[in-house]
Amino acid sequence: GADKTKNVLILMSDTGGGHRASAEAIRDAFRLEFGDEYQVFVKDVWKEYTGWPLNDMERSYKFMIKHVQLWNLAFHSTSPRWIHSCYLAAMAAFYAKEVEAGLMEYKPDIIISVHPLMQHIPLWVLKWQGLQKKVVFVTVITDLNTCHRTWSVTQFNPGVNRCYCPSEEVAKRALLDGLEESQTRVFGLPIRPSFCRSVLSKVSFLYDISISCCISPDGCLGCDDLRVELEIDPALPAVLLMGGGEGMGPVKKTAKALGESLFDEELGKPIGQLIVICGRNKDLVSTLESLEWKIPVKIRGFETQMEKWMGACDCIITKAGPGTIAEALIKGLPIILNDYLPGQVNDHIASRKEKGNVPYVVDSGAGVFTRSPKETAKLVAEWFSTKTDELKRMSENALNLAQPDAVFDIVKDIHELSCQRGPVSSSSFVFTSSFSSLI
Ligand code: UDP
Repeated sequence: GADKTKNVLILMSDTGGGHRASAEAIRDAFRLEFGDEYQVFVKDVWKEYTGWPLNDMERSYKFMIKHVQLWNLAFHSTSPRWIHSCYLAAMAAFYAKEVEAGLMEYKPDIIISVHPLMQHIPLWVLKWQGLQKKVVFVTVITDLNTCHRTWSVTQFNPGVNRCYCPSEEVAKRALLDGLEESQTRVFGLPIRPSFCRSVLSKVSFLYDISISCCISPDGCLGCDDLRVELEIDPALPAVLLMGGGEGMGPVKKTAKALGESLFDEELGKPIGQLIVICGRNKDLVSTLESLEWKIPVKIRGFETQMEKWMGACDCIITKAGPGTIAEALIKGLPIILNDYLPGQVNDHIASRKEKGNVPYVVDSGAGVFTRSPKETAKLVAEWFSTKTDELKRMSENALNLAQPDAVFDIVKDIHELSCQRGPVSSSSFVFTSSFSSLI
């Protein structure tokens, strides 16, 4: 019945493609795993306020890292009045208001934060409203690795019921920062269920989600069928080139270099084909479309079914975005990381963030890092001709590193936490005074 349905509120901020992808992955996994037992709402806390000077999350975040003393003081105290800085206070008040609105509107039994910034204030708000013991609060870390201590200072809050870490590295960092081992779980980065092997057969006839996967033996399209569907050459090895949701990094130069290296001058024919997915970068699409190519090339804008394109290709070139990396690993694609630039907002913070993803891939033999488009193009040409063994080995390493069940492990664990508490009665959400008006 309706009163048995529990509400889940996912707090996210649409900076880059990664947070939204993780939030939607969790939402979809709840639906697949528990059906009507849960109703999931994804709330983008900053979205409606594009004019707001503080909507640049990364910059705000950098500001807070600089003021770590203040920040620590703020979240270790029982009262939010410790917030002295105007900037921080304004942001906190604004943000708290959004969180309170979310609480009133969705009456969540469970809150999931997929952004490191969205912990302290929601936790304060819960405390202030006397909901801390009733509402389950968890965070999902969406970086594969952390490489700098200041980055993590605000990332791990000991007040959470659970902190889901994508890798052991991140979990270690969480423990150093004061979390108990019982609070952390390492399942992997949550990836959209349409990428995951384990649910393929279950999903394909129970739910209306189009599935494709070249690994699963049954219930899905093989590579051949995928290539027919995507209208790409059925026989030539294919390299997928992309740059996150915004199409960033040295995509154009790399595409040009591949256009040369994948054409065998002696035989006068191509040894491979190129697929470029430019995401939301429309300029990139038109620039690439205006060029002449000697090899088969497919240029696309934002694609909603990345699992198909990855399933149809033999390797991938991308900037070090955590989402794309985790997806490529699930699809067994050897990865050439060509950049760890952010794509937007604050270069310094974001590049430091993505930089940590490089050793995660390279040290496990699932890929290589090079910033040189020429070198990238040469490597792919070798993989497609003389070094096919290396390509195969890397593909196996990628599959070994992949954690396709992560998103399901996460929602099952949240379910267990929630069962221990039972449902929150909706009368709990009648607030007497607003937290945000205080700060
Ligand atoms: N993506 C997509 N369609 C596109 C380009 C990218 O769905 O055309 C997805 C991609 O599959 C991944 C996310 O956007 O899930 C990009 O996340 P990532 O962490 O790699 O980089 P970001 O864009 O957040 O910097």
